[in-house]
Amino acid sequence: METNPTIKITIWNEGRHEKLHPDVARIYPGGIHGAIAEGLKNEGFMIRSGSLDDPDEGLSEEVLNDTDVLLWWGHLAHAEVSDALIDRIQQRVLKGMGLVVLHSGHHSKLFRRLMGTNCNLAWRELPEGDLERVWVIHPAHPIAEGLPSYFEVPQSEMYGEPFDIPVPDELVFVSWFKGGEVFRSGCTFQRGRGRIFFFGPGHETFPIYHNPYVHRVIANGIRWARQPHTDGRILSNWHREVPIHR
Ligand code: ZN
Repeated sequence: METNPTIKITIWNEGRHEKLHPDVARIYPGGIHGAIAEGLKNEGFMIRSGSLDDPDEGLSEEVLNDTDVLLWWGHLAHAEVSDALIDRIQQRVLKGMGLVVLHSGHHSKLFRRLMGTNCNLAWRELPEGDLERVWVIHPAHPIAEGLPSYFEVPQSEMYGEPFDIPVPDELVFVSWFKGGEVFRSGCTFQRGRGRIFFFGPGHETFPIYHNPYVHRVIANGIRWARQPHTDGRILSNWHREVPIHR
């Protein structure tokens, strides 16, 4: 039995804002994926990354099949991600790959496919941002490990309720915004054998992926989403011809 294996993660970042918008490129000169990778560099993960304009849409079958936990950040180009890639990722999740969906990934084809709903929400983007206070409402959850009872994102895009998702299996964080709204900002789901964690903060025009608390949450989310064991059997349709008792 493996003990403390290296978790292989792939950070998929759409990568368009950094090319199109100098203000985003200034905050994330190495891309959003680069900032996340930097924040995770001492966590012991094996880290790969890819972007939509890379070959194979940034996620070859080989890399996908060798990924324990996939991180997904997208915004401008959700519709450009091919259905074939979404099909492959969905099947990998159902077979046990972990998935961490970040911020505007809530509207990605991938997240909507896995949730089965439109995943709409209320939102507001102010030039100076809204103060977001992220409350840990499930302190015993592994994703809350090492966090204070709340932490703040001084400049955030407001994401508010109602958030059109199925009822999450677990709620780890609820956010309050200075503008008055609340949001289920840390949600877990299980689909097939796969674990999914959604985390709300992460708007591209603010330095949110340089925030150490955000790094802590993402690292915890990766460890939680990685399946602790595998028996090699996928959840296939199982014709049990022979009864156990007659
Ligand atoms: Zn945003």
